[in-house]
Amino acid sequence: GPSWEGKHVTVAGLGVSGVPAAKVLHGLGARVTVVNDGDDARAREQAAGLEALGVTVRLGDGATLPEGTELIVTAPGWKPDKPLFAAADAAGVPVWGDVELAWRLRGPDAAPWLCVTGTNGKTTTTQMLASILEAAGLRTAAVGNIGVSLLDAVLGDEPYDVLAVELSSYQLHWAPSLRAHSAVVLNLAPDHLDWHGSMEAYARDKGRVYEGNRVACVYNVADKATEDLVREADVEEGCRAIGFTLGAPGPSQLGVVDGILVDRAFVENRQQNAQELAEVSDVDPPAPHNIANALAAAALARAYGVPPRAVRDGLRAFTPDAHRIAHVADVDGVTYIDDSKATNTHAAEASLAAYGSIVWIAGGLAKGATFDELVAKSAKRLRGVVLIGADRGLIREALARHAPEVPVVDLDRTDTGAMPAAVQEARRLAVAGDTVLLAPACASMDMFVNYNQRGDAFAEAVRELA
Ligand code: ADP
Repeated sequence: GPSWEGKHVTVAGLGVSGVPAAKVLHGLGARVTVVNDGDDARAREQAAGLEALGVTVRLGDGATLPEGTELIVTAPGWKPDKPLFAAADAAGVPVWGDVELAWRLRGPDAAPWLCVTGTNGKTTTTQMLASILEAAGLRTAAVGNIGVSLLDAVLGDEPYDVLAVELSSYQLHWAPSLRAHSAVVLNLAPDHLDWHGSMEAYARDKGRVYEGNRVACVYNVADKATEDLVREADVEEGCRAIGFTLGAPGPSQLGVVDGILVDRAFVENRQQNAQELAEVSDVDPPAPHNIANALAAAALARAYGVPPRAVRDGLRAFTPDAHRIAHVADVDGVTYIDDSKATNTHAAEASLAAYGSIVWIAGGLAKGATFDELVAKSAKRLRGVVLIGADRGLIREALARHAPEVPVVDLDRTDTGAMPAAVQEARRLAVAGDTVLLAPACASMDMFVNYNQRGDAFAEAVRELA
């Protein structure tokens, strides 16, 4: 590959991607400068660690392009309209994300990448995929936007046969040359529009995951936008479009027949019309959106050549992560469900669709979303609504337009004590047989560190009721 010796590389942003990227580049002999907007205690600690190695760090100035920069490696979350990138553009300096760096350093040689993106279900599907690959006896890991950096995965000592890679729209934006073995866009709904600038730009970045695929582009039959992205992608010769559907599958599709997950795309025995993979009850939880996730994971695994039995065993071995439709407790005949990870309207819609009569706890940071469609579709299931968080007014207005008869308690508070208060209000609204569902349809950072803390606060408040 190209020599990194003495190359001036600017790493934009400390944190989970910036620190490993700076270390790797420094180790390759590059002259690394890290620029970071903030200079809080955490940033100073990370900076001190890097400076001890001989890396230059500029805290509190993420806007100025350091003199002599030949390449920027950015944290995925940095918005494309930042002044640093305008300066880079003017100077003809390329910008890569950490995923692009991992790909360029060793991507094609380390192990094939099976990539998962979409608005919702990424983490679940990636973990299901890794579980299926493991059940097939393959050396694999769930990596990427899931907590394990791709740099560590491709440069580490551990040998892999194949990687299950979760990619965010941000990471894809900054990874122009990535070429997957196979990939899926699970679904496409408005999210992060404040970052991408428009739905078109968001879809374009998601669609990059299909570019150059070798074996399969997997799409959601029920979400035409994902199929359109496959059609627009430039792929290797012989790469197939594979659909997944909750209904009976057509040719080149995976789907569901009489409670069985069925594959009509990768059929080994030509006498057979379809291959049975697993039962719907092997999927945990067996909610419709999650069966779709299982089919997508199965499609990628089958594209890689995994046998049907491993799909079943892998799905059975899988347990969902915390705060994703997690059952907390039953109190006085009311079921309390924590779906704190429902951080956008599309996710909240899926979890609201999974229950009958619901007291819904919602609100937080809207990230540019509108709530009319979600509320209109869910109105008939709502026993009542409790609103918290900064942008709750947007939800309140949508409720007034589309569900005027549903009782709404607007707590009008954004302190962390709002959660126990919300649970108390929800308990008052609920009657036996109802579900109290935390599915905020919003990000959590107005009130909490992250969705984990929000879900924990909910669960703790529920346990206090019990
Ligand atoms: P991501 O990594 O894309 O955020 P997760 O697997 O962590 O996705 O799930 C996030 C939330 O999205 C879940 O709590 C659930 O409410 C919802 N969800 C999961 N899968 C889907 C899907 N296929 N369609 C719609 N919503 C989904």
